[in-house]
Amino acid sequence: MRRTLVAGNWKMNASVEDTRALLAGIRDAGEQSCEIAVFPPFPYLTLAVELTAGSAIQVGAQNCADQDSGAFTGEVSAAMLSDIGASMVILGHSERRSLYGETDAVVLEKTKKALTSGLIAVVCVGETLNERQKGEEEVVVGRQLNLLLQELSDADWKNIVIAYEPVWAIGTGETATPEQAQAMHAYIRRLLAGRSAEIAQDTRVLYGGSVKAANAVELFSQPDIDGGLVGGASLDVAEFLGICRA
Ligand code: PEP
Repeated sequence: MRRTLVAGNWKMNASVEDTRALLAGIRDAGEQSCEIAVFPPFPYLTLAVELTAGSAIQVGAQNCADQDSGAFTGEVSAAMLSDIGASMVILGHSERRSLYGETDAVVLEKTKKALTSGLIAVVCVGETLNERQKGEEEVVVGRQLNLLLQELSDADWKNIVIAYEPVWAIGTGETATPEQAQAMHAYIRRLLAGRSAEIAQDTRVLYGGSVKAANAVELFSQPDIDGGLVGGASLDVAEFLGICRA
């Protein structure tokens, strides 16, 4: 049984005050039937861990290093995230891939570090508009998943969540239709099944790309969509809770 996960990616937004307000709003709404995780920027992670203590809300980072420690100025290791009480990390977000040159090989290395440090890795995949227009979306997503499927063990897969985020739907207000999203999620599950039936059955595949309270019910009711990775709408308590209730 895959438990629905709603994950809020705050990106490079928020402040101490915003972190307090957002988390108070989510906490005050009480227990939800889905699993909830928030991904604030690095400086607010410790505060978020403190503010969510004793609740079911999980806290994760938006990135980690592909190295353990040492002379890597500006980097943050997976072990550090684990040390401060974070339990998850988003890896391979399309903004990291396109703006910071993260390749599938780098995403694999980061995923290994996250798993070794006991974190759940939320690994993002997804095609650009140009790739979809050329009918290449399955090839692209297949390539992004391939190394993970080849290199990670069955035990590793227990701590991986996949987020399908069509790049053309991120922050654009344009959402994949439930049918488009379901078709890709079903394809991802077939790829996972090529590795093992158990991995296909147990791995959560989230949809991300302009998810809002208004479209979440339809998206989340698709058989292979196990929740959402939410950007913009995660900065608004009422919207985010609306998505959680969906
Ligand atoms: C995201 O950042 O992962 C995302 C899906 O953003 P948005 O919901 O704003 O499209």
